[in-house]
Amino acid sequence: MNPADKSFLKGLDYSVVQQCMHCGLCLPTCPTYDATKLERNSPRGRIALMRAIADGRLDVTRTFGEEMYFCLGCLACTTACPAGVNYAELFEHARAEVERTGILRKPKRSLIRAFTVAWLFMDLRRMRFFGRLVRFYQRIGLQSLIRRSGALKLLPKRLQELEAMTPTIQPKFSAELIAPVTPAVGRKRYRVGMLTGCVQDLIFSDVNRDTVEVLARNGCEVVTPPGQFCCGSLHGHNGEPGLAARLARKNIDQFPPDQFDAIITNAGGCGSHLKHYAKLLKDDPAYAARAVEWDRKAKDIHEWLVEIGFVAPAANGQPTQTVTYHESCHLSHGQKVVTQPRQILGSIPNLRLVELPESNWCCGSAGIYNLTQPEMANQLLDRKLRHIRSTRTTVVATANSGCLLQLINGARSHGLALRVTHPVSLLAEAYRQSEAGQKNAGGLALPAP
Ligand code: SF4
Ligand code: SF4
Repeated sequence: MNPADKSFLKGLDYSVVQQCMHCGLCLPTCPTYDATKLERNSPRGRIALMRAIADGRLDVTRTFGEEMYFCLGCLACTTACPAGVNYAELFEHARAEVERTGILRKPKRSLIRAFTVAWLFMDLRRMRFFGRLVRFYQRIGLQSLIRRSGALKLLPKRLQELEAMTPTIQPKFSAELIAPVTPAVGRKRYRVGMLTGCVQDLIFSDVNRDTVEVLARNGCEVVTPPGQFCCGSLHGHNGEPGLAARLARKNIDQFPPDQFDAIITNAGGCGSHLKHYAKLLKDDPAYAARAVEWDRKAKDIHEWLVEIGFVAPAANGQPTQTVTYHESCHLSHGQKVVTQPRQILGSIPNLRLVELPESNWCCGSAGIYNLTQPEMANQLLDRKLRHIRSTRTTVVATANSGCLLQLINGARSHGLALRVTHPVSLLAEAYRQSEAGQKNAGGLALPAP
């Protein structure tokens, strides 16, 4: 049989397919079910459809394909499920099945996927090239000129919306801010690799720099090779396990797990995927064993800092700032890293943490969901911003590039004076402020890239 003819859902371990006991406890936690109250938009309904296909009782239809892409992949259902249903695996296999059958294929969709998933994200040199073009467009003032001129009104509504979501590209990418090896401050306790990400590198390279600084201050020698690769989560979550596996091999080659105590990411969405390379590469004899070791060492930054007993910043006499925390779905539901970011924020002397209602409810970003399902994504964003407003804070911390971007765009379009930042950036700032006599300290002098 040609491997391309092999059904992903029929080939999935049946113990995963049959786990659901139809209790419905996940339904109230599912944002799409909450919005429509339709069973097919719920985890239980979706799992029933997947099982019917796996059992050969249902063909892959267009409706099934659309349903799989209406699901956010937020994994809130996995937190609620008493039976331990592995929805992440079901969901990835279901989307791979949709792509294998080509049931949603249309020329425009195929072109966009070929350009982004199969080309742009497979080699980040291309991504950085486009990042530089957008940065140039923004820095010479062309973007604001075009926005002010009203010329954008000539574009179709959807393109206008997409233009409004264009992120501000950082003046320098990670490799221009961070040396390939940053020594530990004081005694070296660990050697860690640090993934600088794809979108993260272009839009939040400052967060990457802060992460390296925080790690160095906590006794870690940090290895950040320039020319890194995407973690492959975009591919894994969008029905391309073959491309995801290719990127997993590249990452394992770049960060051989036997040479590191931990491999760190500061993005919840990436971390959730990075911890499952072993499944992706289980049939590859050259990588299977290393992938198991990789999974063991892949760590979210908050998880790692708490594990190694991070140093709490000293009191610094700064005025108190009130901060709320939005949980990235893939950090909380995907990785179950829930308490650690709060512990880090709680350790900052001048910071008062105000709990956000529904803090682990999706903000609508969900990878590229805000691009593919704008209506549902905007509903979720409005709900999130309503809750943020109710906390009366002016700072929101969150640990995923998609969430950061979604909230920055949301605050801008709603005219909210809100600082959106990463918990690790707040920790890095607190360390700097704690340094005696450095009122406006610019940060630890890291070695030049
Ligand atoms: S992943 Fe999120 S949107 Fe999808 S079924 Fe689960 S809770 Fe609902
Ligand atoms: S996924 Fe879990 S919580 Fe939801 S219906 Fe099935 S067993 Fe119940």
